[in-house]
Amino acid sequence: MRIHSKLPHTGINIFSVMSALAREYNAINLGQGFPDFPMNGELIERVAKAMRDGENQYAPMPGHAGLRAQIAAKIESLYQYHPDPATEITITPGATYAIYTALTAILSPLDEVIVFEPCYDSYIPNIEVNGAKAVTVPLQDKDFSIDWSLVEDAITPKTKAIILNSPHNPTGKVLQEEDIVALQKIVANHALFLVSDEVYEHLVFDGLNHLSFLQYPDLMERSFVCFSFGKTYNCTGWKLGYCVAPEPLMNEFRKIHQYNAFTCHTPSQVALADFLTVPAHYLQQSKLMQEKRDYLIECMKGSRFRFLPSYGSFFICADYSAISMENDLEFTERLTKEAGVTLIPLSSFYRNPPLHNHFVRFCFAKENNTLKEAANRLLSYEAGLRSAH
Ligand code: PMP
Ligand code: GLN
Repeated sequence: MRIHSKLPHTGINIFSVMSALAREYNAINLGQGFPDFPMNGELIERVAKAMRDGENQYAPMPGHAGLRAQIAAKIESLYQYHPDPATEITITPGATYAIYTALTAILSPLDEVIVFEPCYDSYIPNIEVNGAKAVTVPLQDKDFSIDWSLVEDAITPKTKAIILNSPHNPTGKVLQEEDIVALQKIVANHALFLVSDEVYEHLVFDGLNHLSFLQYPDLMERSFVCFSFGKTYNCTGWKLGYCVAPEPLMNEFRKIHQYNAFTCHTPSQVALADFLTVPAHYLQQSKLMQEKRDYLIECMKGSRFRFLPSYGSFFICADYSAISMENDLEFTERLTKEAGVTLIPLSSFYRNPPLHNHFVRFCFAKENNTLKEAANRLLSYEAGLRSAH
């Protein structure tokens, strides 16, 4: 028996491939985006307590009511938007699932969705599995910013939605006020949905602000805004997140969700409802992660990796063309095997990678010892290459 594949061009995703290679070669994994330091112990205790307290049965389909109420309060305090927790917030098993569910709710076969490249690797398969087409708009070579005239050019009568992601994986780019204004102009003229991936909302550096689509009524009325507790509380393995959307959009979202996951892990939701009442837990994340970004750059002084600016997320990209002209997949495989450090090749975030793509992505959400050791390994590998020439 053979399946007529819905995703004939899709293989195993790069994070699984590189993490497996890192394990095989005992390499330090600065590839897949997850923290290697412990999450908050108090939050763990709260989950255990919720289990002991008997919170072990199905939560309501849209999520634990107390958690939705706390999310609404948080959104109101941060973004001055008042989502109705009964109708506009749904707890999901991670943000990837929320994005998939939003796309599945809105897409019909042959619809088009605009995505910016490079982009998080789930977007294009999520579009294609719905029989729709991903129309890619490249981010600018010089600094990964958006050329909004290219977005205008990419819109056709079939365009159903645009996916945006800020802070951006893999580039660490953060949308600015002028980007929001440009997008507002576009949606004023076109009937488009927006899927806004804001999983790194609490990881924004250098005094910049996260501009959530929740702040802009003309964007929000057409948006599914997706978040991840995994990124906010350093527990990516929990796979818990949520989506915020206006009621008519959320009604359709829930129709899909109720026959898919239906609901999420109850004790974690009970624990998160309590934990969210202390804003310091999420507000301190930007500072912590900015220090890690800076520490990695500091440790890599003297290297020929040329780091690009990162203004948010877990990630920073670097140009390695002064070290090697190999393609990025070969280069990252060789670094894993020979230097003992795993990075992610940037081409894996593209459907159409640029021809001369010599970039890798580092994840700096790691213990300082891990970052130091990885940097030492890379520096001595580079020194070995230099002396071999
Ligand atoms: N969006 C982006 C941009 C991401 O980097 C990630 C990575 N974790 C996700 C979504 C997925 O989040 P989750 O693990 O909550 O599904
Ligand atoms: N978001 C993480 C990253 O970009 C990994 C998610 C995954 O493994 N699917 O590295």
